[in-house]
Amino acid sequence: MHEVSLVRSLLEQVDRIVAEQGGRAAVEVRVEIGPLSGVEPLLVKAAFTQFASDCTLIIDEVPLTARCQSCNTAFELENFRFVCPHCDSREISVIRGDAIRLMSVTVDVPEDGDVQQALPTELVSVETGLCTTSERR
Ligand SMILES: [Zn+2]
Repeated sequence: MHEVSLVRSLLEQVDRIVAEQGGRAAVEVRVEIGPLSGVEPLLVKAAFTQFASDCTLIIDEVPLTARCQSCNTAFELENFRFVCPHCDSREISVIRGDAIRLMSVTVDVPEDGDVQQALPTELVSVETGLCTTSERR
């Protein structure tokens, strides 16, 4: 299943961010999934729950957005119609919605100096904008 390997690489990125922050674990992960990402949000959620059951996954489903090369208009693609609504140009590039992106990770970071103590901890939210895949169907 494609989503399983995807979630694995997603969690590797999350682990790296947790380590960078000196945290114990990620408590919340937010991803953005577009219609051309080639992944099924429900399957991503299922795989994520399997690997990281104590972390909350938030999935934002974003529309497919493109920018016209001719007139520089950014617009949402409807019905996968790859034509600029402003000037009818077909020279457009997808700028959003063709990937699954790791948008932010909220890390549970223990306060300085007291590693024995379970609490209190500080939650650090890291904006990433990392692109996990740009695979197209
Ligand atoms: Zn245009």
